[in-house]
Amino acid sequence: MIFEHHLKTGRRQEMLDITAEVEVGLKDSGMGDGLCIVFVVHTTAALTINENADPAVPYDMLSKLARMVPEKENYRHLEGNSDAHILSTLIGCSLCIPVVQGKLVLGTWQGIFFVELDGPRQRSFKVKLLAG
Ligand code: ZN
Repeated sequence: MIFEHHLKTGRRQEMLDITAEVEVGLKDSGMGDGLCIVFVVHTTAALTINENADPAVPYDMLSKLARMVPEKENYRHLEGNSDAHILSTLIGCSLCIPVVQGKLVLGTWQGIFFVELDGPRQRSFKVKLLAG
């Protein structure tokens, strides 16, 4: 079974902590041990795991990424969002998180982030649980 989650982003670029949403889905599934695969079905969004305790961390990450891949440059893509496509590929579109005794194996400071790169938009991500 695959679960679909929806969210609405509020800015062009932002990182939204989706850890609790993934955990609720995992709990509802009743799965013990296995793998949790999180996948984003967009070409201008991404997923990553990083510190979710200090909001300065995602702020600094987005700030640095925007300087590394500027919004306006001599891109060919006419939609005007090539920076978002490039960042989506650099950050990645999926995560694979171990599950032990019904809990995500995440470090104390780790959280799962949905990374909006060309919002605001209605978005979704999928969660696939593999028992074993
Ligand atoms: Zn585009």
